[in-house]
Amino acid sequence: MKYFEKLLIANRGEIAIRVMRACRELGIETVAIYSAADNNALHVKYADEAFLVGDAHPSKSYLNIERIVDIAKKSGAEAIHPGYGFLAENYRFAKICQDENVIFVGPGWKTIRAMGSKIGSKQMMKDAGVPVVPGTEGGVNNIDEAKKVAGEIGYPVIIKASAGGGGIGMQIVNDEQGLQDAIAAAMRIAESAFGDATVLIEKYLEKPRHIEFQVLADEHGNAVHLYDRECSIQRRHQKLIEEAPSPVMTPELRDRMSASALKVAEASDYTNAGTVEFLYSDGRYYFMEMNTRLQVEHTITEFITGVDIVRQQIAIAAGESLPFDQSDLSIRGHAIECRINAEDPLNNFSADPGKIIRYRSPGGPGIRVDSGIHMGYRIPPNYDSMIAKLCAWDSTRVEAITRMRRAISEYIILGVKTTLPLHYAIMNNQQFIAGNTHTHFLQEEHILSTLDRYTRDEETRMQTLAGSFGQGKKVAAISAAVNTYLQQKKD
Ligand code: ADP
Repeated sequence: MKYFEKLLIANRGEIAIRVMRACRELGIETVAIYSAADNNALHVKYADEAFLVGDAHPSKSYLNIERIVDIAKKSGAEAIHPGYGFLAENYRFAKICQDENVIFVGPGWKTIRAMGSKIGSKQMMKDAGVPVVPGTEGGVNNIDEAKKVAGEIGYPVIIKASAGGGGIGMQIVNDEQGLQDAIAAAMRIAESAFGDATVLIEKYLEKPRHIEFQVLADEHGNAVHLYDRECSIQRRHQKLIEEAPSPVMTPELRDRMSASALKVAEASDYTNAGTVEFLYSDGRYYFMEMNTRLQVEHTITEFITGVDIVRQQIAIAAGESLPFDQSDLSIRGHAIECRINAEDPLNNFSADPGKIIRYRSPGGPGIRVDSGIHMGYRIPPNYDSMIAKLCAWDSTRVEAITRMRRAISEYIILGVKTTLPLHYAIMNNQQFIAGNTHTHFLQEEHILSTLDRYTRDEETRMQTLAGSFGQGKKVAAISAAVNTYLQQKKD
């Protein structure tokens, strides 16, 4: 089944390639867009056609709605897949697509708009009987109101931008003294980052787990969930490691949470793929928000369910019914994803763009690598620092961890600093191995202070790999690259 003749991917990097791979399997021609900073990007080479969309700055390129829709029409693409980030949760974009008769691969624009407001979506879910984190009913606009609400729910509290995402602008406040400055800062950041200064206040849960459910819904009233993922290992409230299923899940808890997730989908009139996010603490769970798009970590759900989520997204967008129901689905084994970011964990995770001087990705059983980089590629400084996703599957969690460790030890990325050594440290941490994860894991386990040891190990590893994998000229090239890496580290 082809669904469409031609589809435009309004994104870049690994996710653009992920979508194009699904298209190629379905026989759909692909149209890439790229910015002036992405002339040599892999997604441009992978596509059947590629169009320059504008300058490097996202507002001129990957966020340039008019130009993207124009390219779709001129190239004859019938549908647009937005990936994640950029325009994926922009209801205006989805609406313009609809007005211009281009199919948007995602939910309807009204659903995106409703779920784009943390305040509005929480209220909607509360009305539908789904538990939500205690907090403000509506937005908070002044300090007196904020003091009153925070006093009622009790400190600590968290302040969030209602229109927010990516952990941007979140402030944790421990007492009334800190509230005024935090509210002012949160409103300022919310206004500049999202064009909407509305903030909400919630009870700040200590050491919760982040657990989410993947859902799929078609346009004919059928909806299923594809089980849970846990994304508790985070830095700056952003996910670093995800796994499926959650190590804390029981059949009884899964029944309750999945029923809530499907209720969220139904209450929001949901179609296509989406993720319902919850916080879990002390046996209770609370709806946090719904992401109305494909998630970075959809890969691990694909591993444990065998469902190709992107293929289903395209089929649903073409008006097809889901080819399975809940009773056809089950969990097989355990999968983990490590986000490989070009950043320096030891320097506050600051981005470290630059040229990849040596690259070799791992393989073998149960390993999946989604990346947009290659040897000689220069990572532009203009976009997100995630350059690859490394996923490992095996029949049990412990085996998946072991396999991930093996895959990390095969992965060579030289020229930029990455989160690889950090992942290696976490895969060796006893609490992680025991499944005792929560959103403060990195700080509490002092992972960063153990990194030095693993960074040293990494150097040994690279030198060993240089010897064991390489032959002749290759050995010389790899050794030179390792030396450059070590030299860079000294500088
Ligand atoms: P964003 O949309 O900006 O990504 P989310 O609302 O999804 O923000 O929250 C991201 C992360 O922030 C969560 O996974 C969790 O670590 C933390 N967080 C959010 N709300 C709370 C809360 N009420 N208590 C504790 N941690 C929270």
